Amino acid sequence: KAKEKGKNCYQVFDESMHAEIILKVNLENEMRQALKADQFTLYYQPQYNTPDKSIYGMEALLRWDSPSIDQGAPLDIIKAAEETGMIVDIEKWVMKNAFTFAREINAIADKDIKISVNISPVHIMQSDFVGNVWNSIIEAGVDPGFIGLEITETVMMESFASNKKKLEEIKKLGINIYLDDFGSGYSSLNYLQNLPIDYVKIDKIFVDNMLNSDRDGRITATIVELAHNIGLKVIAEGVEREEQYNFLNLYKCDIIQGYYMSKPVPRGEVLKLLKFTTNNCLEQYLTDW
Ligand code: C2E
Ligand code: MG
Ligand code: MG
Ligand code: MG
Repeated sequence: KAKEKGKNCYQVFDESMHAEIILKVNLENEMRQALKADQFTLYYQPQYNTPDKSIYGMEALLRWDSPSIDQGAPLDIIKAAEETGMIVDIEKWVMKNAFTFAREINAIADKDIKISVNISPVHIMQSDFVGNVWNSIIEAGVDPGFIGLEITETVMMESFASNKKKLEEIKKLGINIYLDDFGSGYSSLNYLQNLPIDYVKIDKIFVDNMLNSDRDGRITATIVELAHNIGLKVIAEGVEREEQYNFLNLYKCDIIQGYYMSKPVPRGEVLKLLKFTTNNCLEQYLTDW
């Protein structure tokens, strides 16, 4: 019987699977090397208070100049990292860097700047997830109140109860939680109701469509109102045009993020973008970077 089974196994393990495994192993090695060689970088996209367009915070976004993956495709990088299991090490690196930046920037800014990072569901499922977040906070020496984790609805499709518990622990540490890409997937009210979130990010798809019809517009306005009624702040993603800005401002969306205000920029450009008043401190930082 064992022989039979072995034979079957051999049959399904064909040429194309072999090639796929080799590719995966190569990619995993490449990612491990890239981490060691500091070839990953973070770009930061600022988020602005809607009414007065003052800076609110920033989202950290992963970039990698890799020979095998297109630099402009972070989603491919994330997917590959999830498949090879490298996502945990990569996100530990992301947290360490973004959290350190959050400490540095808040030491010189004249107001609080929140920095959020994206977290993969694959990472949240790991038993050491909460520990990884906490270690990154300690290592960076940052006030957890300056930090946010962006999670997506897919996080909750598996192991809802245990993921929810982890997020509650994170929240108890004083870290902010953002529900990302709201409106792009299942968008269950259950998530808004039962997860310990502080912010809802309305997906670009909604922002793209909200001016198409009266109906689409009212849906967006209603999401904002609903979120406010349960004590959440609302961030609109992918705001590209002035009419979109005007609409979101009219319907009291708290925060906007998108090319209309700024694309994601490398860390060295953040200070210029924030237009801090020039002082010795700023000069110092600009030269250090
Ligand atoms: P996201 O978290 O929804 O991030 C927003 C994405 O929209 C970013 O794409 C940003 O560059 C883009 N964007 C912002 N404003 C505009 C706009 O006005 N117009 C257009 N067309 N695009 C805009 P990006 O940097 O390509 O990242 C794509 C996705 O990759 C992110 O979507 C996030 O899901 C994922 N990602 C990036 N970094 C990480 C990471 O460190 N960990 C994990 N798990 N995922 C990450
Ligand atoms: Mg995000
Ligand atoms: Mg998003
Ligand atoms: Mg998105």
